[in-house]
This record gives sequence, structure tokens and C-alpha cells, in this order.
Amino acid sequence: MKNENLTLLAPAKINLTLEIFGKRADGYHDLRSLVVPVSLYDTLTFTLQEREIEVMCEVVGLPGEVLPLLPAPGDNLAARAARLLQETTGYSRGARIHIRKEIPIGGGMGGGSADAAGTLRGLNSLWGTGLSVEALMELGAQLGSDIPAMVYGKAVCMEGRGEKITPVPCCWTAGVDWWIVVVNPGFTVPTGDVYRRFRSGLTSTEETFINARFALERGDQKLACASLVNSLEVPVYDKYPLLAIVAGRLKSAGAAGVLLSGSGASVFAVAENHEQALAIEARMKRENGSWLWTRVAQILPDGVMVAHGPLEARV
Ligand code: ATP
Repeated sequence: MKNENLTLLAPAKINLTLEIFGKRADGYHDLRSLVVPVSLYDTLTFTLQEREIEVMCEVVGLPGEVLPLLPAPGDNLAARAARLLQETTGYSRGARIHIRKEIPIGGGMGGGSADAAGTLRGLNSLWGTGLSVEALMELGAQLGSDIPAMVYGKAVCMEGRGEKITPVPCCWTAGVDWWIVVVNPGFTVPTGDVYRRFRSGLTSTEETFINARFALERGDQKLACASLVNSLEVPVYDKYPLLAIVAGRLKSAGAAGVLLSGSGASVFAVAENHEQALAIEARMKRENGSWLWTRVAQILPDGVMVAHGPLEARV
């Protein structure tokens, strides 16, 4: 008998590097970015039903007034991904999608993209539509630049407008032990606005990128800290000085590497180990008060498989 339900974890991402090379004729920016999943998840539960696609979102412990930030259920990226898969494959049944949301919204951690990617993989499995991961990545690219990388689900280098994905094989995955502290101020940074205000003048070098990729392959946190780069830090910190203050405080708390996550508003710090991550988080809470949302998480170069077993937990 066919399973009626499926639950999976949709991990957030951080960008260890995000270099923007300029605007293209089609309005997108050419970029290059090292993207890795982290152990901060939305939980998606899919239930088979007749033709319709329905999305329900439950928000868990997120900072700020978040529900109004979400689009109408039919416009949720998960619903759009489900309809696209239905249209592409001609599959006749629908699904109810319950999203337990723990990834900050508009936080530069790809929450919406994670839900879309998780929906493509989850429904492809529940519906038995049999598309390859590559085909799902192509569908994802129609919905958003970060989605192909998140469908792939492991450490990658993303190029073009995000659609060119090269896996970054990491040799340190057995003892996953790369901790970060994520801080979110409870407001959102609109990605489109940040890109519009971006002015070229890249300050990083090719060597920085090579070092960052090598650091990711080897799990070398020290080298990674020296090679973190994000072209969007200048436009974001200019408009939202509080984020520059948060970054400064993470450094003062002892983090060797601190970076804006994607287009913000989250900022992350790379810690030497779990204890230091907890100490940095405790200090941020002590010195800034409880309004600051913080989370200690692990970098998952091999996706959720390594740390948490199979991606899809049937219920
Ligand atoms: P990106 O960097 O990809 O723009 P982000 O991580 O900064 O994304 P998201 O949390 O993905 O931000 O949300 C961006 C916008 O996408 C939100 O304002 C929201 O209206 C819309 N959105 C659509 N579906 C979702 C979803 N499932 N979860 C969160 N946001 C969604």
C-alpha cells in the first residue's frame, strides 16, 4: 500500500563566501558562492489528498512579528513547488503540506527556498513521480536562485545566477564538528532591495575564494575564518547599522570569523568548538537581552544525512 504521509527536515543554509561580479543583461547578478546546509530546520509534513495543494504554516520561536511576512498559503514557495511538480509530471493527486517553521524569515538563510526544495524532494518521493535530483534542481531553478543548491542538499559552489551548481566534496564529514552561532535581530532585509543597492567594487581576491573552498573541503575552521567574504555586507551594514554592531559584538565575544548570512538579516559566527559556540551565544544574550534571537547550529557539509540519518522519516 502506498504511504499517505512523509515528514522531512528542510535545512537552512549559510554562504561562507558570496561574491557578486556585476549585473547581467537579464537583470540578475552574476555571483559565486560557497553554500552549506546547517542544522537549523523547517519540518515539512506531506499528506496525500485529492487534487488540491494546501499549505499550512506553524511558526516556532521565531523573532519579531513573523506571520504577516509570509505570503498567502497559495503563494508560499512550497505550494508553488508542489504545483510545478504536479504540472510537470501530470500527477493527478494533491497534498497537504504542513510547515513547522524555525528558520528566520527574510533572514538570508534561504528558509523559503529550503521549503521549496524540501517539497520537490518530498513530494517526488511521496507521489512516486520518479524525477532525478538533476530534474528537480532544474524545476527549482524556475522558482528561485538558491533552490537548485538546496535541492542538491550538500556543500556546493553556486555560480551564474545560482543555477550552476558544483558539489564541494568534504573529507571531514564523519566527525561533523563545525559549530556556528546564528544571530537574528527580528527584522527582515528584502533581498531585492539589497541587490539593487549593491555597487561593484569587489574587495576579495581569487586567493580568498580558493582558500575558502579548501577550508570547506578540509573542515579547516581557522582558514575558513580568514576567508569569509560577502559582497553584500557593505550595502546591508550601511542601511542597517545595527547588524554591523551585532557583527562587532560577535567578534568581541571571541569569534574568529563573523559574516552576514546571504543578504541578511542574520549574522553568523564561526566557533572553534561547541563549548565556544555556547559561550558566545550566552554572552550575546547577556549583553544584548532576550530580543536578540540566537541559535547554535552545526555546518552539515553532507546535508542532513550525516547528522540525522535518512532525509525522509516516514511517519
Ligand atoms: P532569500 O535570501 O532566498 O531571498 P531569505 O532567507 O532572506 O531568502 P526567506 O525566509 O526565504 O528569506 O523569505 C523571503 C520571502 O519569501 C518572505 O518575505 C516570504 O514572503 C516569501 N516566502 C514564500 N514562501 C516562503 C516560505 N515557505 N518560508 C518563508 N518565506 C517564504
